Amino acid sequence: METNPLSAFLGAASPWEWLRAADDLWRWGAYAHEIRAYDRADEATRAAIRQRRVASMIEHARSASAFYREHYRQVAPGSIELAAYPPVTRKMLMARFDDWVTDTRLKKAELLSFVADPARIADPWLGKYTVWTSSGTTGVPGVYVQDPDAIAVYTALVTSRFELGGDTAALPGSGSGRLAFVAAIDGHFAGIVSWERQRRLYPPIALAARAFSILQPLPDLVAQLNEWQPDFISSYPTMMTLLAGERRAGRLAVSPHGLWCGGEGLAPSDRADIEEAFGCRIVEDYGASECMNMAFGCGHGRLHLNDDWVVLEPVDENHRPVPAGEPSATVLVTNLANRVQPLIRYDLGDSVSLDTTMCPCGCSRPSLRVEGRGDDMLVLEPVHAARGARGGGRDAVVRILPLAVETVIEEETDIHLFQLTQTAPDILCLRLDADGEHARASAFRRVKAALSRFLQQQGAAPVRIELDPLPPECNPVSGKFRRVRVLPGAHCRS
Ligand SMILES: [Zn+2]
Repeated sequence: METNPLSAFLGAASPWEWLRAADDLWRWGAYAHEIRAYDRADEATRAAIRQRRVASMIEHARSASAFYREHYRQVAPGSIELAAYPPVTRKMLMARFDDWVTDTRLKKAELLSFVADPARIADPWLGKYTVWTSSGTTGVPGVYVQDPDAIAVYTALVTSRFELGGDTAALPGSGSGRLAFVAAIDGHFAGIVSWERQRRLYPPIALAARAFSILQPLPDLVAQLNEWQPDFISSYPTMMTLLAGERRAGRLAVSPHGLWCGGEGLAPSDRADIEEAFGCRIVEDYGASECMNMAFGCGHGRLHLNDDWVVLEPVDENHRPVPAGEPSATVLVTNLANRVQPLIRYDLGDSVSLDTTMCPCGCSRPSLRVEGRGDDMLVLEPVHAARGARGGGRDAVVRILPLAVETVIEEETDIHLFQLTQTAPDILCLRLDADGEHARASAFRRVKAALSRFLQQQGAAPVRIELDPLPPECNPVSGKFRRVRVLPGAHCRS
């Protein structure tokens, strides 16, 4: 790239990027100040701030979004009771995308072709919007557009909340040290888009930050991390569990000062396991593509809700409130930060339970527990063991993250509603949602080819992939839909 002398002086890729960074910093500073003020305020002041933000977001949605105007036609104008407003789902919003957004220049068709091009990850849309996509556990991929204020709120929440974790030195970018982001990095996913955006706007961060793909074989990832020697690692809990195993086995030779995870629930036993393997704290961030940074882990392992910028309503399957202490069937999320794509009482699908006691850390924000998102890790025979070379010690079983399986299927076949079940150490059963037998057979061929190729690249011995003619199903007991699951005893023995 040609370097403009002004850009070189400013330390940015272009004067335009420098202006965006200045704007971003200014907004971040303003919101960080508001967050600190909220933290210091008494409960009555906080409640008033929340109420004002909720009322303002509803009013904005009703006046600027054709979808919400219609959706709320039965609700009396000016009603401030959030529960009076009917919930929304991803399917509903994506079907009416062009009416949902409040900037009429945003068009679903154009955005879908934008997110289909991996070369454009983190490019600003219309000069100011940040766009990401999300895999569809509900079968419908989402496209999410964030305005500059929403992004600044998310960043300000991260920088403010990190202090709750008790280790500000571990804050990414706060000091010297290398950062490693281990994630799905080959598509427009929220994590990599946010990461890449920061790298572009703040060149000093870019020098110390590197992203690593979860889609590569684990030994390759371990070798890359050993070479990079990160001081800070950010990833999903399941990936952290795998890395902790590699650290204990002595193959991963890194000594980070801080770990950060998000994207999936973190079980207390996994937390202890990971912290013990790395000898440092892991800080948890509960967020979703629809609303980043909803809650943040404190030193006591609880998740504190960022209730100044998000409303979470734990509800049952009929959207009736669930009392604190009980796990909900789903949760309705209201994002108070993003005005370009209002998200009000959105059915997120996660099961959460609000804690009934004050947290010993002293933070007065409500705390909650999130049930794990529930997909299983595939555990397969390594290719060498299958050839009869077992016992050499190098042939550890091959563990495959559910998120990696989902990403490969979605990205390579554009099929979102599927269910893959490991029924035996070497058998995977696939259920697909398709219109008719012909479509099902064709979809199966595509998924089978993509999956076989991927599993082979990971060093797994060949497995049989079978088509199960039944449609994907929810767990009859929990009602949860899992896309990757392992039947009891079907794991290959490690
Ligand atoms: Zn706490």
